[in-house]
Amino acid sequence: MRFLLVEDEAVLREVVQNSLIQAGHRVDAAATAEQARHLWRVQPFDAVLLDLNLPDANGLDVLREQRKRGDRTPVLVLTARNRTDERIAGLDAGADDYLGKPFELAEVEARLRALVRRAQGAEDRTEVGGLLLDRRARRLFVRARGAGPPAELELPAREFEVLLELMTPPGRVVNKQTLSDKLSGFDDALGHNALEAFVSRLRRKLHGSGATIRTLRGLGYLVEPEKGGAE
Ligand code: CA
Repeated sequence: MRFLLVEDEAVLREVVQNSLIQAGHRVDAAATAEQARHLWRVQPFDAVLLDLNLPDANGLDVLREQRKRGDRTPVLVLTARNRTDERIAGLDAGADDYLGKPFELAEVEARLRALVRRAQGAEDRTEVGGLLLDRRARRLFVRARGAGPPAELELPAREFEVLLELMTPPGRVVNKQTLSDKLSGFDDALGHNALEAFVSRLRRKLHGSGATIRTLRGLGYLVEPEKGGAE
């Protein structure tokens, strides 16, 4: 997933950013309300992590502006613990959830994932061909032919993220730009050739799963049951 992290405290920003990157996400970071406004307007995000006390404005002003523009990106507000007034103000301004400081890093990712899942209205489990995606557990399985439990298919974080995008929901065409945006940071756009190579590699790993990634020339990619596969 791709997140916008708005936090003026450098150490906290780097720790949270690194932990989300480690978990396989892309993170664009902003230290001021001005940077946050800019990034939020030029780039779609799966969710925004928003600190309230910023040097040039209150984070809630940025949030209100975005909501006024019709932006519905899920927002997790970071508030000082025991500040009920901040929480209420955050929810009033259009935040979807809040997290009190200090917080556990693992909780940040879990909350962001829950927000995105809720926003997408996604089912916890999706199946294509014999490929099973469990969003809550963030695991993939391949259903065995005949009897036997499904076998886990372990993928590197970035490959998992691409498959998650293609399968949410499955059967729709995802254009190359959307996928390369998911995979790239703000400054290091992934070229189309690199994306093709990435998808070919992933396609080989799905061999035998009953699902495949089809390329629709000029349009993008699609996950669908493999013809004559493990149906
Ligand atoms: Ca702050």
